[in-house]
Amino acid sequence: MKTIEPYTPIQYVIGKTEFCGLEFKVDERVLIPRPETELLVEAAAEFAGLSASKADELDILDLCTGSGNIAIALMAGKCAPLTKNLSNCRIIASDISPDALEVARRNAVRNGVYGGIEFVCSDLFTDIKGRFDIIVSNPPYIAKHEFLTLQEEVLREPRIALDGGADGLDFYRRIAASLPKHLKRGGYALMEIGYGQRAAVADIIGKSGIFRLSGARKDFNGIDRVIIAEWIN
Ligand code: GLN
Repeated sequence: MKTIEPYTPIQYVIGKTEFCGLEFKVDERVLIPRPETELLVEAAAEFAGLSASKADELDILDLCTGSGNIAIALMAGKCAPLTKNLSNCRIIASDISPDALEVARRNAVRNGVYGGIEFVCSDLFTDIKGRFDIIVSNPPYIAKHEFLTLQEEVLREPRIALDGGADGLDFYRRIAASLPKHLKRGGYALMEIGYGQRAAVADIIGKSGIFRLSGARKDFNGIDRVIIAEWIN
């Protein structure tokens, strides 16, 4: 019998979790989807409805897809309110980890949306071509000093999926720098953020002078959890 290490998250032990009413396979290769990330899916679906007139022309990119939960929930039309039927959209889901992508592909098959999502192995935008109406991401955002305070269970998850660099903001800087090249005019970037990061991420987004933070959504604990960036004009 396989021995279970102390502090192994229950989701790894049973090999699955629920997100947006769908079942996802999870193991040590991927971050376990969190309930608050459902807010990001809801917001992305809503802004997808705002960003283009024809649903089947929408291009959506999910950066750092991990288990694939965001792209798959969007494609499956979960986490309403959906203002458009997204089943005809083109969704690219990318991750730097081939191991994570293997899990994500299996989850897409399991949830009946494999044909609709293109999985790409890429370090953020490095191997991504073209522009998107919606760029959505739950990037790693834990700051170095925060690792000392994380629960043992969280430390069993892939470090690469959590580690946002010295101040936790490395990925927001890199994503913001690529938005001019990869976000369509009139498109939106939606990202999950960590506790207390809103002001710093707003600064990063606004620095270029061509994007601004147009809104934020709070999670169940009243913490700003999702930010929305848009073109200034
Ligand atoms: N929400 C996760 C946590 O609290 C972090 C996920 C991330 O870094 N994107 O551990």
